[in-house]
Amino acid sequence: MTAAREQELAAGLGRVRARIAEACSSAGRAPDEVTLVVVTKFFPASDVRLLRSLGVSDVGENRHQEAEAKAAEVDDASLRWHFIGNLQSNKAADVARYAHAVHSVDRAKLLRGLSRGSEARVEQAGAQPLEVLVQVDLDPEPQAGRGGVRPEGLMELADRVADTEHLSFRGLMAVAPLGEEPAAAFERLAALRADLLAQHPSADRLSAGMSGDLEEAVAIGATHVRVGSAILGGRPSIP
Ligand SMILES: *Cc1c(COP(=O)(O)O)cnc(C)c1O
Repeated sequence: MTAAREQELAAGLGRVRARIAEACSSAGRAPDEVTLVVVTKFFPASDVRLLRSLGVSDVGENRHQEAEAKAAEVDDASLRWHFIGNLQSNKAADVARYAHAVHSVDRAKLLRGLSRGSEARVEQAGAQPLEVLVQVDLDPEPQAGRGGVRPEGLMELADRVADTEHLSFRGLMAVAPLGEEPAAAFERLAALRADLLAQHPSADRLSAGMSGDLEEAVAIGATHVRVGSAILGGRPSIP
């Protein structure tokens, strides 16, 4: 069982790493400019362990309860957990206790909890402050989006994050909207990022690209791609 699953994961990782390398080469970028975050949501902690043994250092999860349980079960200090999902403000402090980075900050209401959780972790575990990315909604239709602050609210939220104690503001995250070419949406993302960098030069991370569109994201400068199904296989559909 485990040996077969390990082979499956190794093959998926090999294919995705090759795609990243090819996309970097087409874009004239070095492959080490792009971090692969393997999205393990819906898959068991045993898969996370296998991925770790295959050289994966960054994993992504989108639901707090599942992420918290898995991080406790795997308990490998060399793994970095990236929280990439919708976050409730009453859970924000808890997420900061195990997550290395939160990619999905979309409103100022989350900042108090994240700051408190990060402060506790820094004091107790000597960890680095929590890294925060602001998620921006690229959907042309307001309200239709898959989460994120609308572009017109981005700068204000970015300033708030940068001013919050115990948090390290590192950049932007986005998901390509349904029903549009990812490349077109990512062009808008690249423009927003350029504006942001003028104000916040150290917020230079860009989390964009998934199984279906990582090439388009690498082409416009993504530094983190979040890839699940192309490595782990199909997920059961969300009830
Ligand atoms: C699930 C998820 C991913 C990974 O999607 P795949 O298409 O399986 O690669 C990436 N980003 C976010 C925010 C997700 O929720």
